[in-house]
Amino acid sequence: HHHIDNATPEKVRAAIDSQDFHAHIPSYETFESYCKSGGYETLRTLRAKGDWEVVQDTVLSSGLRGLGGAGFPSGKKWGFVRGNDGPRYIAVNGDEGEPGTFKDRFHLEREPHTFLEGMLIAAWAVEAETCFIYMRDEYPAVLEILRREIKALEDAGVVDKGYIDLRRGAGAYICGEESAMIESIEGKRGLPRHRPPFVAQVGIFGRPTLVHNVETLYWVAKICREGPDILSGVEKNGRTGLRNFSVSGRVKAPGVYLLPAGSTMEDIIEAAGGMLDGHRFKAYQPGGPSAGLLPASMADIPMDFDVLQEHGTFIGSAAIVVLSDKDSARDAALNMLRFFEDESCGQCTPCRVGCEKAVKLMQADRWDQPLLEELCSAMADASICGLGQAAPNPIRLTMKHFPDEV
Ligand code: SF4
Repeated sequence: HHHIDNATPEKVRAAIDSQDFHAHIPSYETFESYCKSGGYETLRTLRAKGDWEVVQDTVLSSGLRGLGGAGFPSGKKWGFVRGNDGPRYIAVNGDEGEPGTFKDRFHLEREPHTFLEGMLIAAWAVEAETCFIYMRDEYPAVLEILRREIKALEDAGVVDKGYIDLRRGAGAYICGEESAMIESIEGKRGLPRHRPPFVAQVGIFGRPTLVHNVETLYWVAKICREGPDILSGVEKNGRTGLRNFSVSGRVKAPGVYLLPAGSTMEDIIEAAGGMLDGHRFKAYQPGGPSAGLLPASMADIPMDFDVLQEHGTFIGSAAIVVLSDKDSARDAALNMLRFFEDESCGQCTPCRVGCEKAVKLMQADRWDQPLLEELCSAMADASICGLGQAAPNPIRLTMKHFPDEV
């Protein structure tokens, strides 16, 4: 980013408007090259003579599930949204604020149109009036690519001008929570809403809203084009499907790896080039800080929804961070809670005060484990949204699996 002396809001604005902030734009698949390889033919065919329920069945039979943690079958949401009178909206969650997650960026900087076509297919399926893309502002290259390519779609008449509304997030982790994101799109502070009503009924400006993650829509396009087998045909350890894992930490080749959903940590570390020299595998974060830490002794379990749920955690956005014998599980857990303390929206007491108290208790030489557990259950039971509900995970899992350190 360009440095501005004595920055005032006006100067910053002027610099942004004059394109003084230069993002490095990697080479990517443009609208033209995407179309050359058959891109947007699926959308065109569906718009002309498609049956949305057939497409929904295809998506359901692929086994595609949402990546927010609950693992909800993606096709089912379409029915819920369509079940409410229009006008309806689509909101794409491109906030990707989960520490350790970078798979959306990886794909958007390479093939943005697979995602855009998937979004337009979903928009067609629920008859959405507008597509809102809520994109992380920390991804200047992605924003620039999307601006250019949305314009290309408008110029080619694939969409009307303004049909795709690109919005910039402003760095708040909580705006990755779907209802907070919707508040933010409406121009308000990103405070999560109470549910019910669910956003499929009452979403953006009170209208039924389909919320999907970037990766989900990327898969929708692939499934509609290549068939549900591209996911359902992949089997490993009794699980079907594929998953993009963002792998970082003490491995030789951090990056995004597309692997079977039934892969274990052993497979994932191997795909990422193995452990760094001089480092012994000790622990891993299976899905962002909300998923806490698991020990290396659990490196042979499939990294899938139900399996991880049995172990008190979840796959979330599949943000894998690998820790070695040079790292402290206790410090890692404390770091996660500090993050939640910073990012808590402050709306409800169990989370706002709970995160702060947890950080204080976790700084002690020895953790007061009964007191921490009491705090954890209050936070998990009484917080409004997933941030406060999942914040106890790193505490509980560290007490359970790394008792010597606490
Ligand atoms: Fe805000 Fe935390 Fe409550 Fe969620 S749980 S609404 S982040 S205070």
